[in-house]
Amino acid sequence: MKILVINCGSSSLKFQLIDSDTEAVIGKGLCERIGIDGRISFTPEGKDKITKDAAMPDHNEAIKLVIEALTDPETGVVKSLSEIDAVGHRIVHGGENFTKSVVINEDVIKAIEEVSDLAPLHNPANLIGIRACQKIMPGVPMVAVFDTAFHQTMPEDAYLYGLPYSCYEKYKIRRYGFHGTSHAYVSKKAAELAGVDYENSKIIVCHLGNGASVSAVKNGKCIDTSMGLTPLEGLIMGTRSGDVDPSVIEFIEQKENLSTKEVMNLLNKKSGVFGLSGDVSSDFRDLEAGYLKGDEGCKRAVDTFCYRVLKYIGSYAAALNGVDVIAFTAGVGENSPFVRKIIAERLSYLGINLDEKANDVHGKEQLISTADSKVKVFVVPTNEELAIARDTAALV
Ligand code: ADP
Repeated sequence: MKILVINCGSSSLKFQLIDSDTEAVIGKGLCERIGIDGRISFTPEGKDKITKDAAMPDHNEAIKLVIEALTDPETGVVKSLSEIDAVGHRIVHGGENFTKSVVINEDVIKAIEEVSDLAPLHNPANLIGIRACQKIMPGVPMVAVFDTAFHQTMPEDAYLYGLPYSCYEKYKIRRYGFHGTSHAYVSKKAAELAGVDYENSKIIVCHLGNGASVSAVKNGKCIDTSMGLTPLEGLIMGTRSGDVDPSVIEFIEQKENLSTKEVMNLLNKKSGVFGLSGDVSSDFRDLEAGYLKGDEGCKRAVDTFCYRVLKYIGSYAAALNGVDVIAFTAGVGENSPFVRKIIAERLSYLGINLDEKANDVHGKEQLISTADSKVKVFVVPTNEELAIARDTAALV
């Protein structure tokens, strides 16, 4: 089956066409600046990337251009739209309504709309993507794959905040967690690589990218994760603060004469390793280069980031009552031996021994702990698009 995977943001749309039988990517691309001016880039499998400016007043137009790119007589990868068997949509927030992926119908769309106040930037954009596909590809089955679904197995003591219970009852304020598709895919793959039974295992997944989160997976089910009601909680990220004392918000409001919205912007866009470094960069390649040159801000940012990861691993080892496997994934987790080393060297209390030579790996599956390490540590590249394509193929 040929599955079109769509990840729709407010002004961008990432897409991949995947053959679910061979799991090969047939073509992939990105529409950017939707509603502004518009640019589409497309890479047919094994060929060079094609980029062109094209007016994209809205997402309908963007989807039309995606179909045009896929079916282009010269550079396209399919002869006609009818070759696309199904569409898989990444949906950020499923609230408590969705514990797994589902075939999209009007009830599902309504249920996604209902939880849109939990992800006001993301869910409306995801819904626009669904509507645009319905219009341009009527009759093609579609599946919604939720970032939150994998974490719905968390027990109450892990997902509740220490707030009046009425906040949960009235507004469903709780920890939901994100990157679920990645945590599910990577934890399963890590069990496979480690040769342990997924249904009988204790795994910690460190998804360290621009957005970053850790999860504790017991017997194939998520029992805790670091992101919360929104993706702002938990680890220090590229530009997001992660955990802070909530009182910080009022304090900054008063000191800097800012509105709550402005402070939230500071926490989301100007904090994290970017803010900690003194606005040097949110990109770990820059931060590592700075660190090695002795830049104090870069060192501070990387060390504080790693310490937070270390604390989450410690708390999840406790939550799991032990750990068999730790997996590093996403941009930083897959590509930074530097960051992995700083973290793993401080896990000797778990009996972890890093194999420094094996750790010199970028973006491919590899065991990076020594043979005598009590916990196996892996690099496992994540593949959220493939996971979405798999779910979609299975459901249609
Ligand atoms: P997201 O999907 O959240 O945008 P990614 O998982 O793609 O993020 O991760 C992006 C981050 O990965 C970049 O900001 C960069 O910091 C980091 N990264 C990518 N390549 C490398 C590398 N070779 N060394 C260190 N960090 C890297």
